[in-house]
Amino acid sequence: MLWWHRSVRPGIGVAFTDTAAGNLAFSVGSPDQARANRRRLEQSLGLPSDGLQFMTQVHGNQVARIHSGRYLPDTGPTADAMVSRGQALAVLVADCVPVVLAGEGPDGSPVLAVAHAGRAGVASRVVPRTIEAMHAEGARHIAAWVGPSVCGHCYEVPAALQAEVAAVEPATAATTRQGTPSLDLPAGVLSQLDAAGVQADWIQSCTLEEPGLFSHRRDAGSGAEGRIAGVIYALS
Ligand SMILES: [Zn+2]
Repeated sequence: MLWWHRSVRPGIGVAFTDTAAGNLAFSVGSPDQARANRRRLEQSLGLPSDGLQFMTQVHGNQVARIHSGRYLPDTGPTADAMVSRGQALAVLVADCVPVVLAGEGPDGSPVLAVAHAGRAGVASRVVPRTIEAMHAEGARHIAAWVGPSVCGHCYEVPAALQAEVAAVEPATAATTRQGTPSLDLPAGVLSQLDAAGVQADWIQSCTLEEPGLFSHRRDAGSGAEGRIAGVIYALS
């Protein structure tokens, strides 16, 4: 169920799910099944039922602040990043880059965040905006975990599109194994984290190449489409 799961700091856990956790998004497949899979994931992480805040992702760069005790069931806020003072958060992907972050607030309590960084999110700098929102909460000692996504060898794009994204984030310019233009989204995210002074761990797996992960580019139209989640939570 969990592709990667670590206690990253005392009382703080990070997880990335795999296909065995099932589809976790309402945007593909059966909403009832996604809801059941979410409850199963929460249980496996020791979280209460409805303890994980998801969001409705739209390939934008809005950062939603999740206030304690203001949980929004099912679809959550319309945003591509969230920041909380301890509420467990989830980001959904199938080739885009899932980023989870943790910092320490002025009172020592955790400041948690997630971000959904696809092509549009890297170009519109959703990850730097998320870090700014964490700073606004007084967060220090911020670290990030970058989860599985499509890799730079697999994400072929037209040359004009590559140029457009690379103009904003030069680290994304890459080539496929066939030598055609591609985008390396995790490289772009890691570069943005580095520029913001945030240390990052990269869980380096390619969603398109790994059958144990969901890939939109591989699975679309196959009837087996789904979304994996990147999760960050604080155990109280
Ligand atoms: Zn790949």
